Amino acid sequence: MLVSMVETMAKARANMYCIPALSAANEITVKAAIAAAEEKNAPLIMLYMFNTGKVDDILSYGYMATRLAEKASVPVSIILDHGSSFDHCMLAMRAGFSDVMLDKSSEPYEVNAAEVAAVAKVAHAVGVGVEAEFGHVGTGDKYDDAADTVFTVPSEAVSFLADSGADTLAVSVGTSHGVYKGTPKIDFDLLAELHEVVPAPLVIHGGSGTGEENLHRMCRMGANKLNIANELMQGCVRGVESNDCTGFGAYGFFNYITNGYKEVALHMFDLCGATGQA
Ligand SMILES: [Zn+2]
Repeated sequence: MLVSMVETMAKARANMYCIPALSAANEITVKAAIAAAEEKNAPLIMLYMFNTGKVDDILSYGYMATRLAEKASVPVSIILDHGSSFDHCMLAMRAGFSDVMLDKSSEPYEVNAAEVAAVAKVAHAVGVGVEAEFGHVGTGDKYDDAADTVFTVPSEAVSFLADSGADTLAVSVGTSHGVYKGTPKIDFDLLAELHEVVPAPLVIHGGSGTGEENLHRMCRMGANKLNIANELMQGCVRGVESNDCTGFGAYGFFNYITNGYKEVALHMFDLCGATGQA
């Protein structure tokens, strides 16, 4: 069934586990993500990033993904990942998404809070959940460049949540988007403090490449949604490369992608502690 992640993440927060948020931007990956969640009897969040800016793209994706989510035997949420404007978020809602993220984490506190609040006012009127980011999760290729990442300050995060009206909060504790240049250094004490003081479920972006042990720990000490993209795409590539795609082998191409994606996805439910929590 299609549900807002606000519902499933509240349970995750109460019981100290995490829900994998899997990048699933087309029919092949949406089907693979849902199949993996059903196999693990786990709640699922699917990430869609609206890169192209073409209205037809997000509407056709929403039409496909919401129908598949509604038929699923486990709770499935669909969130606009890193929405960049009020208009993006409105389009995602029109496309049937259960949740939207407005990422204004590069803007000053007041701008971030005010713009999220404007989205939240509309979203909440129609039962859509809202994720905001406070502090800034940078990109992995600039990981050694301290200026690219801004760690979340707990006391400010508490007032930001109240000022913005967001339902869930993406925080910055040392993870990074894409592929890390250098070794990830996670501030576990900061995550524990954020879980303690922020009265909302916490989201971790940049899960890929953070390391099994780091992720396992974070998922049991207050992270309630873990965004994964790159690792799933690597799985797709492995799925294709480990098969013979010559001649008639090429007909298996989409199945190889599905299998490679699913292998990573299945593992993520276990790692996050979401298995059996549907
Ligand atoms: Zn992200």
